[in-house]
Amino acid sequence: MKEIKETGIATHPNDEAQCPGCQEQLRKSMKSSALFYSVEEDIKTCPECSGRLGRHVWYHLDDFGKRMFQGKEYMQTWCRACRNSEPPVAPAKVCGQDI
Ligand SMILES: [Zn+2]
Ligand SMILES: [Zn+2]
Repeated sequence: MKEIKETGIATHPNDEAQCPGCQEQLRKSMKSSALFYSVEEDIKTCPECSGRLGRHVWYHLDDFGKRMFQGKEYMQTWCRACRNSEPPVAPAKVCGQDI
């Protein structure tokens, strides 16, 4: 997992921080690893929320929204709340934590 490079995403001082729930890097998103994107459950981590909380925060894909880039549709990396300062929605799950 560690060898896969993410491109086009700003680095952050806490990039190496790990999630206590799964021991994987906090700020990775589905772009770099299928681990952070569950097709079965339709959920994905928000790297920004995860970095803030110190463990992975998962949201339903609908909570991310889409963006268009050169005629193709992409999933947003951050949840709506992190991008637009909208009120946060309840996470679908949080690593190592029952909600
Ligand atoms: Zn985790
Ligand atoms: Zn977020």
